[in-house]
Amino acid sequence: MHQSTPRVGIVGAGITGLALTHYLAEAGIDSVALEATDEPGGVITSRVVDGHVLEVGPQRMRKTPGVTALAAAAGVEGDIVEAEDGDLYVYAGGTLGEGPLSLRGFLRTDLLSWRGKARLLAEPLTRPGHPAESVEEVFTRKFGREAYERFAGPLYGGIYGSDPAEMPAAFALEGLLEREQEEGSLLRAFQKRLAGGGTAPPISFERGNQQLPDALAATYSGRVELESPVTNIEPGDSVRGGEDGYRLETPGAGHEVDVAVVTTPASTTAELLGEVAPSTSGLADLRYNPLAMVFMESPYDGAGKGYQVGYGEDLHTLGVTFNHSLFGREGLYTAFLGGMHDPQLVEAGDERLASIATGEFERVTGAPASVVDVARLDPGFPAWDDSWWGLEDLSLPPDLFLATNYTERMGIPSRVREARQLAEQLADRFTDRTPDGAVTGTEQAAADD
Ligand SMILES: Cc1cc2nc3c(=O)[nH]c(=O)nc-3n(C[C@H](O)[C@H](O)[C@H](O)COP(=O)(O)OP(=O)(O)OC[C@H]3O[C@@H](n4cnc5c(N)ncnc54)[C@H](O)[C@@H]3O)c2cc1C
Repeated sequence: MHQSTPRVGIVGAGITGLALTHYLAEAGIDSVALEATDEPGGVITSRVVDGHVLEVGPQRMRKTPGVTALAAAAGVEGDIVEAEDGDLYVYAGGTLGEGPLSLRGFLRTDLLSWRGKARLLAEPLTRPGHPAESVEEVFTRKFGREAYERFAGPLYGGIYGSDPAEMPAAFALEGLLEREQEEGSLLRAFQKRLAGGGTAPPISFERGNQQLPDALAATYSGRVELESPVTNIEPGDSVRGGEDGYRLETPGAGHEVDVAVVTTPASTTAELLGEVAPSTSGLADLRYNPLAMVFMESPYDGAGKGYQVGYGEDLHTLGVTFNHSLFGREGLYTAFLGGMHDPQLVEAGDERLASIATGEFERVTGAPASVVDVARLDPGFPAWDDSWWGLEDLSLPPDLFLATNYTERMGIPSRVREARQLAEQLADRFTDRTPDGAVTGTEQAAADD
């Protein structure tokens, strides 16, 4: 098939596929996003149960310019809910202690002894972190064992449900080690970040995070096809500028595209690209940590973002998000269980998970809780362990791109940024290739409107 305008085929309509759809439309490049399920958003999944907005995936995103621009393009900027500022706690030694993530928090926290605080302040005198070390080795050597066990380990490992001892710093701390190089010390890098006004505030949407992908898919409905699982990707014949494109197979249809962008989970990507990019086969072995989420209702009036559970505590819970105080979601608390330490727990029945989560929540906060719902995440969180070295040898043929949360950073703002950068790169490439007389980007954008 020969086309007069370049066409990009996107596999998956999670936030990456949808953000890419948006930026390609802005650049006037034709595209189609093929999504396997009947809903856009991928891991961004929100549900309303018994009047509660439940986030069965990311609990929040940061209000970066990219996220705000997407919300505006999709007409949901007015539905953004900004989080209340609040502390993150760690449950250690039988009490909830304030995470020392600010100067005030550092001075006030009783998570660390004065000796532990003094050791932490000696960090600028330690050798820089090395990519060959594990995250545990870097944090322990630089901050001291007490700081590692009482907050740095639980906070960092808790975010991924992973074990810092199993996480090579080379990729698990890549960004942090770069900042350390720039500032000469990790503490100085944190200090600078805090002095600069910190990061963009956490946000959600009135009807939950999924409101953003839902609205994007509706805005670009002509470019998004739901219930269209791609079953195979093979070399195509959409010849343009002398190069072949790809054929994306879906049940009952084939989509010829000039450029294919794959945004699917790692194991699916390995399956889909077996023929055109055999080096991706290692993606099937990337380890993910299974997670269960228990949504609870409680009269507890906790302030702050929530808590992570310190090492050595006799609890299954990894951490709890306070949706109640974060986004004013009346009485709602979300517990995370499972992860690398407790993977088999995720297979337990709903009743067992519910009773563990509510019982442990009462132990930590002193307040009773009842269960609203239970969910399990498949594939869960990237483990960022040794299996991730499988990413080292990836090589892709021309006009095939991965835009994924395992080849680049996983936070939603990073997904949006990667989509924008890829759209810019493709716009440059197509501008170079557009033959005389073909529709230009701007003209196509006008046609889309
Ligand atoms: C539990 C959890 C909590 C998180 N918390 C946060 C947070 O608080 N803040 C934050 O910023 N980030 C968070 N993240 C990270 C962030 O949410 C994800 O990295 C991001 O949403 C991934 O988006 P994506 O589009 O790249 O991938 P996905 O969301 O995985 O989208 C891929 C899409 O491809 C589709 N697909 C799969 N196979 C096929 C096929 N064969 N054909 C067509 N389509 C297919 C899927 O159905 C899916 O819609 C969290 C992630 C998880 C898992």
